[in-house]
Amino acid sequence: MTAPTRIAPPRTPRSASALIDAEAPVLAHNYHPLPVVIACAEGVWVEDVEGRRYLDMLAGYSALNFGHRHPALIEAAHRQLDRLTLTSRAFHHDRLGEFATRLAALTGLDMVLPMNTGAEAVESGIKVARKWAYDVKGVPDGRATVVVAAGNFHGRTTTIVSFSDDDTARGGFGPFTPGFRTVPYNDLAALEAAVDETTAAVLIEPIQGEAGVLIPDDGYLTGVRELTRRTNCLLIADEIQSGLGRTGRTLAVDHESVVPDVLLLGKALGGGIVPVSAVVARREVMSVLGPGQHGSTFGGNPLAAAVGSAVIDLLETGAFQSHAAELGTVLHDGLAALTGKGVTGFRTRGLWAGIDVDPSLGTGRDLCERLLQQGILVKDTHGSTIRMAPPLTITREELEGALEALARTLTVTVAAT
Ligand SMILES: *Cc1c(COP(=O)(O)O)cnc(C)c1O
Repeated sequence: MTAPTRIAPPRTPRSASALIDAEAPVLAHNYHPLPVVIACAEGVWVEDVEGRRYLDMLAGYSALNFGHRHPALIEAAHRQLDRLTLTSRAFHHDRLGEFATRLAALTGLDMVLPMNTGAEAVESGIKVARKWAYDVKGVPDGRATVVVAAGNFHGRTTTIVSFSDDDTARGGFGPFTPGFRTVPYNDLAALEAAVDETTAAVLIEPIQGEAGVLIPDDGYLTGVRELTRRTNCLLIADEIQSGLGRTGRTLAVDHESVVPDVLLLGKALGGGIVPVSAVVARREVMSVLGPGQHGSTFGGNPLAAAVGSAVIDLLETGAFQSHAAELGTVLHDGLAALTGKGVTGFRTRGLWAGIDVDPSLGTGRDLCERLLQQGILVKDTHGSTIRMAPPLTITREELEGALEALARTLTVTVAAT
C-alpha cells in the first residue's frame, strides 16, 4: 500500500500542534478530534499540514463514499459554480426537476423533498409522517406517535435528541419533544406491542451505524415492512449513513427488497462537496405537504442539485455498489482472521465494519490514536468499538494495508501490556 507521492502542489509546512492549540480557545468543544490537521486530500488519501499522508478509513462518516474530490463530482460542481448557485425556492431553477426525477427513480419512490443536512431530513420526515397521520390516517390532532429503536442515532436537533437514549447526546437539552416510543432494535414482538392507532410511523436505521454497525437479523426489515403495512403506519428508513452504495447495494433495505414509505438520505448525496439531504416518499404520503407548510432556503439549491445529480450518475453505473460488495468480503475475511487476536467481535456489510476490540488493549480512542500513528484514519463509536467505512473507491491493496495496520496495532498493544 503506497500513498501517492503528491496530492496537491507543495505547501509551506505548518505545525499541527500549533494549529490545534490556536483553535481550542475559539472553537466550541463539541467534538474531540484525533490530533491530525488535514490540509488536502484526493481519493482515499489525505495529507496533513506537516506533509504526512493517511489512508482515510472513515470517509466523513460515509459522506465521502466516492472519495475525496472525485473528478466527476468536482467537475459538476465547477460547471454549476460558473452558472448559478442559489435561487431560493421562491423561483424555479433548471436543475431541481432533473435531480428529483432521477433520485425518485434511483430509489423506487415517487416524490422528493430536498433539504440540506441529515438531521433536517429526519425532522422533515417526522413532520410529513405526523401530517399524514392526521390528514390521511385520521389520528386525533396532537396525538400522533412515532416508534423508534433503542440505540438509534438520527442527528442532533432538540426533537431528535428527545428520542435518543444516549445520555451524552441528551443530557442538559430538555425539555424534550413528546410523541416518541422507544423499543429494542431487532425485536419485532416489542415493535408490534408499541404500535397502536396513534402510530404515524416506525423510524429505524436498517443498520445502526453509530451504535457500532449493528446489523439486524435476516427478516427483521421484512417483518417491520409487513407490520407497518398491516397496522397502517409508515415505515421511515433512515439511510443517511447506510445508503448510497456503502453496504454493497444502493440502499441497505435492498438486501431484503424492502421499499419504505419514506426514505431519508444525506451524507454521500452531497458527494463530499456540499450538504445535500432528501426525504423521498410515496406520492400519497408526500402529497400531504402544501405551500408554506415546510421549506428550507438552501434546500434543493442549484449547486446541491448539480452535485446530487452527478452522485446519481455514479450510482447508476452500479460499479460502486459491486466494488463495495466485492471488497466487503476482503474486509470481512481480514477481520475474521483477527478474531481472537485482539478483535472480540465484528460486523460487516459491504465496506462497513464495526469492530469490537478487547477492552484490555485500550479504549476505542486509544486504538484510533495508535492507528493514526500507522497512517490510518478511523473513529471509535462506543467503548472499545471502532468503525471502518473507507471510500468505496479504495483498492484491494489499500484495504489489505489498512487491515495489516490494524493487526500490527493490536499486536503492538498486546506486546505493550
Ligand atoms: C449522520 C446521520 C444523521 C444526521 O446527519 P447530519 O448531516 O449530521 O445532520 C442522521 N441519521 C443517521 C443514520 C446518520 O448517520
